[in-house]
Order: sequence, then structure tokens, then C-alpha cells
Amino acid sequence: MTKKLMEPESVGAVQANNDANELSPFIQTSPAGTDIGAAVAPAPAFPGRERRKKPRISETPPAPVPPPKLDDYEPIIGKAALDEIRFLAASLHGKKVKMVNSTAVGGGVAEMLNRLVPLLGEVEVATRWDVITGGNDFFELTKAFHNALHGAEYHLTKEGRELFLMYSEQNQQRMAFEEDLVVIHDPQPAALVRARGGNSHARWVWRCHIDLSNPNPEVWGFLRPMVEQYDAAVFSSPSFARQSSIPQYLIYPCIDPLSEKNKELDDSYVQKVCDDFGIDRSRPIVTQISRFDRLKDPVGVVQAFKLAKQYVDCQLVLAGGGASDDPEGDIVLQEVKAVAQDDPDIILLNLPPWCALEVNALQRASTLIVQKSLREGFGLTVTEALWKGKPTIAGAVGGIPNQVIHKLTGALVHSVEGCAYQIRYLLTHPEFASQLGKNGREHVKENFLMTTNLRRWLLLFKILSGTTA
Ligand code: UDP
Repeated sequence: MTKKLMEPESVGAVQANNDANELSPFIQTSPAGTDIGAAVAPAPAFPGRERRKKPRISETPPAPVPPPKLDDYEPIIGKAALDEIRFLAASLHGKKVKMVNSTAVGGGVAEMLNRLVPLLGEVEVATRWDVITGGNDFFELTKAFHNALHGAEYHLTKEGRELFLMYSEQNQQRMAFEEDLVVIHDPQPAALVRARGGNSHARWVWRCHIDLSNPNPEVWGFLRPMVEQYDAAVFSSPSFARQSSIPQYLIYPCIDPLSEKNKELDDSYVQKVCDDFGIDRSRPIVTQISRFDRLKDPVGVVQAFKLAKQYVDCQLVLAGGGASDDPEGDIVLQEVKAVAQDDPDIILLNLPPWCALEVNALQRASTLIVQKSLREGFGLTVTEALWKGKPTIAGAVGGIPNQVIHKLTGALVHSVEGCAYQIRYLLTHPEFASQLGKNGREHVKENFLMTTNLRRWLLLFKILSGTTA
């Protein structure tokens, strides 16, 4: 995140007050040069702006919170579910597991491993987490692989293949594979499976977090022979998998209900965040939290909001981040501003990535949550919204239909008009909306919490190691 993101785009009173330890996340929805962030800005036609103060957001990430213990989950999932986890783990005591991925911080995989690895250790399934290394050339190549596996055009050259295998060989040389179960996450370290030769009793799993339903044939053609040397592959959604000669398993991604992003919050904190951001809790709040990315369709969300607002009073909060890391993010943001115009009920927030508590508060303050994606991975923002019991309207793409069962745990939409209709319908049918929210929370509790994820990994380890108990 560069400094640019952290600085207010507005001028005048906000800048005069500027404190090096504060960030202003506001983005102007008004024409350049007018001040949206300042509480003192005289804008009587737009009372929403006058409410907006300058929130205090740290310029640096907060210190990490110690990971929770298994017992901390008891109030959420109950003792029986914890007993089941311990029972499953008992027959694996003494087994050793290794997880390998390509980054220790940033991204959903690292976030999940950060929780999963200590929990496995706590149930005495000793788990080591290794991260592969590589030069910029390697990560540029694997980023291109990532896009190509999502279907992008790409020509894989001989040099590209050699570079990939060369870095894999280097990593293989400095890593030992003595564990009973080795789980390799995603394509970057996939070629490490070539190291399995000597250790015949070990079971190797390829955990694919990306949607492989429509891969670029050249890249998949290169990776497939490696993938088929594993004992099993694990996908995040049935629709993400591919035909393969090895067994395939489903393990959904998950959220941690005790993380800063998802833990219960005092209402006073939720109120403070709303006050800071100029959000009026006495009126309905419709929110989408997402990177400013065309595939998240923020422009479509604004259009749907504007259509719905002709019939029902509401405010729209579009909170995102990462715009300054991603050149396209800036362009998308300009597109959003252009369509939002100077509507004081559209609140655009550009938050640094460590604002988990603020995101949590914004989700909790919302009347409805929207995730109008046009393409999606699993869609963890949807999981987060459902967990907070929020009526959720989401695009029927990627892993979203696994989470949002239409008219049962939320509403699936396919167009701007459909989204507008659902916003209007759910805001005017609060009992139905509330029931969707309750069902959505139960669905997440059953399927998409860290504890369910832990249970599924233990089950898979038992299956693969042939342990019965
Ligand atoms: N997120 C965030 N701040 C933002 C935008 C997104 O913390 O400004 C988080 C969001 O809460 C979720 C994750 O980033 O945990 C996005 O995951 P998702 O699977 O929804 O989409 P992705 O960005 O990976 O495509």
C-alpha cells in the first residue's frame, strides 16, 4: 500500500488538519477540488458530507493478535463439535504434516494457514508450514499462470517452463519432506511433488484454491502431469474442479469467527465507525466491501442502488482497498465516481488492508450486503456477510451459489435490474430479509467456519493415511 492511498484526496480543511498518523479513507464522489472529507465543509445541499469527520486509521498494521485456542470456539460451535474434532485428531496423533505455499502474509491462503496450522498443532497433529522462495521473474511467471488458469490468453514458452522447474528445484534442495502428509497449495509450488520419490509412505495432496473450470490449455497441459503425481487434489467448490486421474475432494474455504474481521463487536464501536464515516444508522445501509475491480462490478452496484433508491430510502457504502497497488483499481474508482456523481448517499471508502475491525463494523452496521460480482473465486466477503446474519444479495458466480441459496440464505442476482429489485424487495420485506440472514449464518456455521475446515482436513488425513478409529 503506497502513501498515496493513505492521503486524503480532498483539500482544504482536511489537509490543514492533517496528522501524519492518520489516514483519510474518503474518496470524493463530488467533482475534483470540492471537499468531501471535512466536517466543516459548507455543503448544505449534501448533509451527508457535513457529518463526515476524519476517522483515525493507523498508517501501519496493528500488532497481530495471538491465535485463538480450540476451546475459544466452544461458545460458537458447541462442545460436541469440538469433541468430534478431538476424536478425529486422536487417531492421527504422532503423524506429521507439512503445508507449503508461496506467501506467509497477504491473501486468503496465508490467512487460513495462519489459523489452521496452530489448531492442528493444538490437537497434536504436528504441522509445519513452509513458504517457497523465488525471484521476481518466478512470481511474475506464476502470476501469469494464475491468470491463465482462470482462462486468460497466454503462451507458455520453453523458457517459462524451465524457469518454473528451476525455482522448484532450488526450493526442493533446501526443503526436507519427512512428514507423513504433505499439502502443497496452488500452482506455484506444485512441482515440489517431484521430491516425493524417496519417501514412499508419505501422502501428497495438491490444494487448489483457484477456479480450474476453464484453464488455458497450455498452462494446464504443463501442470497436469505434476498434479497427477499427487495422491489427491482438493478444490474449493465442485464447479472449480477438473477431470483428473487422481481422487478429488471438496474443502470449502473458511472464515475465522474469532478474527478481527468477524468477531463480535460492541455496538458503540460500530456506531463510532459509522459516525466517523458519515453513515446514518437511522436509515437503511446497503454495503459492498470489495477491491475496486471490474469483476466485482462496483459500477453495477451504484446503478442498482440508484434504481432502487427511486422507491426506497437508503444509503450505499462501497468500501474497498488496494486501488493504489493496482493500476486498474484507480481507473475503476474513477468509473465508480463518474456514475456515483455527487450523490451524498453514496459513501466511497478506500481503506488500507489492515482495517479488519472497520470492515467488520461496516458489515455489522449494514441493513443489506451486496456482492454483485461478475466473476468470483469463492467470495469470502459473502461468507463474512452471511456470518453476521446479514441479508445478502450476490452475483450467481464462482463459489457464491455454494453460499447463497436463492431465497433461503440470500438472493442471487444476474443483472443490475435484478440487484435493484432485490434491494428494494428486501428493504421493504424486513421479516423475510431477517430470515435470510438467520439462515445464512447457520449455513456458514455448518460449512464455512475455520472449525469445519479443521474437521475436513482431519477427515481427509484419516482417509489418505488409511487410519481407522
Ligand atoms: N477486504 C478488505 N478490505 C477491503 C476489501 C476487501 O479487508 O477494502 C477483504 C474482505 O473482507 C475479504 C477479502 O478482502 O475478506 C476479499 O476476499 P474475497 O474472496 O471476497 O475476494 P478477492 O478479493 O479475494 O477476490
